[in-house]
Amino acid sequence: MKFTIHTYGCQMNVRDSEAVEALMLAAGHEKAAGEDDAEIVIVNSCTVRQKAEEKAVGKSGNLIAAGKITGMMGCAVKRMGADIFKRLPKLHFAVGPRAFGLIPKIVADGKYPVLELGEDAVPMGMDAHTETSWQSFVTVLLGCDNRCSYCIVPDVRGHEYSRPAREIIAEVSQLAKRGVKEVCLLGQSVLRYGVRNKAWDDYAGEAFPRLLRELSAIDGLERIRFTSAHPKGCTDELISVYRDCPKVCRHLHLPVQSGSDRILAEMGRRYTREEYLAAVKRLRDLDPEFSVTTDVIVGYPGETEEDFEDTRSLMQEASFDNSFIFKYSPRPGTRSAALLDDVPQEEKERRDQVLLADQEARGLMRNKRLVGTRREVLFEGPSKRKADRYSGRDGGNRIIVWDRPEDCSGDLRLGEKLTLEVIDAHPQILVGRPV
Ligand code: SAH
Ligand code: SF4
Repeated sequence: MKFTIHTYGCQMNVRDSEAVEALMLAAGHEKAAGEDDAEIVIVNSCTVRQKAEEKAVGKSGNLIAAGKITGMMGCAVKRMGADIFKRLPKLHFAVGPRAFGLIPKIVADGKYPVLELGEDAVPMGMDAHTETSWQSFVTVLLGCDNRCSYCIVPDVRGHEYSRPAREIIAEVSQLAKRGVKEVCLLGQSVLRYGVRNKAWDDYAGEAFPRLLRELSAIDGLERIRFTSAHPKGCTDELISVYRDCPKVCRHLHLPVQSGSDRILAEMGRRYTREEYLAAVKRLRDLDPEFSVTTDVIVGYPGETEEDFEDTRSLMQEASFDNSFIFKYSPRPGTRSAALLDDVPQEEKERRDQVLLADQEARGLMRNKRLVGTRREVLFEGPSKRKADRYSGRDGGNRIIVWDRPEDCSGDLRLGEKLTLEVIDAHPQILVGRPV
């Protein structure tokens, strides 16, 4: 049957959708040209904020009304459980984030409705990939055991589980053979890889740095990225990997959430402002151009103007290359949901705008420092904004655009490496020219 997948949420969902696509193709189904053309539509849902969940449920409702065989997968399914059929009585199937491997069988059986929550299972088809890209996500750590006060992820993605290192190494080797140049390793707190369960039977050292070293040895692979990280994992061992392994990109997404020690403690983040800044300093001492990006929540219950100003000043001190700002959204069953959501919506909006404006100015300042430097980029195709420009990314995950040559013969392949000199800077983008 012709199918398509509609994905909401984070990179982990993007990765899970890719696995489902590969499994469906292997089961003999065919990718539809678009939603209109599809007989089956699968909606991969997010529930990290209320709005995200509403979007996925709304979308599924529309698809059911359009007569499609409609399935939902992902985080909102796990949060809602059987209640999902109260919202969407005609939904055909719903599978949790650790049960997506069952989808081909559910479709083959055709006995709807089906609900599979999966709990702490390791999904079948974890290593299934489609053959379309030069970049690939690879999940290394499932679930999360941190239980930050505001976060629904541990409830929906289950307990932490590290996939065996040999499976990951085999998967990445296979991808590299197929022409994949860049992998991004995924986990909620990826530096906890190998902590709760062993990654190697016989190894007692820090598992994630070792994994990076082993993946670095794979021929053909150009770049290794990973996300998300926690400052506790920024150990000497990790820093030495950055120093020794040129394939490991000097970019770290290190969500800080708040710059106020009081709020950080309430969130249960297990670091102070000072410890966080020390981790950033370690990275920038190694390389002043090290790109550090973050997530911040504004309007956490009880967040005062002073707490907010602490966040602002931390962001300035950390000199983030980019940041993602989220307005606090209470999630049922989390610890903070019991607290009064007392920062008014307009105030959350204002704090959001202030941090965005700060980031624009800071991004510009950080990018301007790179004018005149040479960056190694992997080619990503025509620029999204202007089709007469090419676009690529450097190791720091910075987007660099350059004029498309008039003579396009002997053109670049996607994922091809080239060197550019930076000639101009904007807050989110660099302009370069090939050297
Ligand atoms: N595991 C990652 C974060 C995963 S969720 C980490 O800890 O680094 C992605 C981001 O969504 C978080 O970093 C946080 O900024 C935001 N987020 C999570 N729960 C939220 C909530 N209830 N309201 C608003 N933002 C939230
Ligand atoms: Fe959520 Fe915290 Fe786990 Fe990240 S580390 S997924 S924010 S509980």
